[in-house]
Parts: sequence; C-alpha cells; structure tokens
Amino acid sequence: MSAEQKIPNPGSPEAVSQGCRCPVIDNSHGRGYMGMDGIFVYTSCCPLHWPEGTELGPFVAKEVGNG
Ligand SMILES: [Zn+2]
Repeated sequence: MSAEQKIPNPGSPEAVSQGCRCPVIDNSHGRGYMGMDGIFVYTSCCPLHWPEGTELGPFVAKEVGNG
C-alpha cells in the first residue's frame, strides 16, 4: 500500500472513468494500439496521460483531434 497512484492504460474503462480522453477504439479498450502490447495512442489534451510538461515514453504519441 503506497500513495503512488496507478494510472490505468489509455482507453481502458478505468482510465475513461478518471477523465481519460485518449482514443478507446484505437487503444483496444486499454489493451494497446491495434492490440499491440505496450503501445498506446494518446491525446494531447488528455489530463490523465498527457498533462502539460509530461515526457512521453516509448509509445505511439498520436495527437487526436476532438472533432
Ligand atoms: Zn488518456
């Protein structure tokens, strides 16, 4: 038990319920981009996965417009 917050995968129901705005379908509902393990698509305005100043890791960082 620690105070560390676990951030759910982008597009997963858990993440969406916490305000995630990343693509759900593209991330296969949190399993990965097009089903690829560990690869995710992020939306630049997502407050959960791409807050301002956050360095993105080795994953697909795809900016997705909101319409
Ligand atoms: Zn997100």
